[in-house]
Amino acid sequence: MPKRLNLIILGKQGAGKGTQCKRLSERYAIPHVSTGDILRAAIQADTALGRSVASVLDSGALVSDDLVIKLIEDRFQQSDAQDGALLDGFPRTIAQAEALEDLLGEDGIKLCIDLDVPTELATQRLSMRRVCQECGSIYVETDVEAISGTCSKCGGDVIQRADDYPDPIRQRLEAYERDTAPLLAFYESRGLLVVVNGNQSPDDVTVAIQSVISIRGLA
Ligand code: ADP
Repeated sequence: MPKRLNLIILGKQGAGKGTQCKRLSERYAIPHVSTGDILRAAIQADTALGRSVASVLDSGALVSDDLVIKLIEDRFQQSDAQDGALLDGFPRTIAQAEALEDLLGEDGIKLCIDLDVPTELATQRLSMRRVCQECGSIYVETDVEAISGTCSKCGGDVIQRADDYPDPIRQRLEAYERDTAPLLAFYESRGLLVVVNGNQSPDDVTVAIQSVISIRGLA
């Protein structure tokens, strides 16, 4: 595998980025780097960073570019990210995309997948989503784990994320259209963008992404 297989998975909230990144991370042995997960872990651990961003995350707004850019710079210093990473939730603004290019170099990003789903489907998936606070496993509200509140994989608490309620969902999808959708043209202009239909089964989405990676000779 070529060194530095840095892939960006773009898409609306609820597009299935986290699910796909977990699978791809195992398949290609590169870490899944989710800025949302990093921020939520800081909130759970009640660190100074966590305390400073908790209310922003609950509201569904974005935290500052400077803060997440610093988090990503630190993450890329770690040894497991030297052969590449799957970026989920970063970059989310043009300023972040430019900072990433500065950090990794112009050819540092190998591919940007846009996991495309209609807004109505994204909204529906987010309102039905439940997550394990310990291991991050994702359930839907009708799953036994969601009803009992206990994760079958690790025994952790299964909850509804504070930002998976109607107002924050609306905020997040608006922020996506305003701040993140412009990244599609940014990566398209660099020949890096491939759109994958996110409105199919998780397995079919994985196959579609893997075939793009293979056709492009990236792995
Ligand atoms: P989602 O994409 O479903 O909203 P994430 O887990 O990616 O969930 O992000 C959760 C929250 O973390 C965002 O709503 C935002 O407040 C913050 N966040 C995550 N990544 C970024 C980023 N790159 N820039 C700014 N804020 C971010």
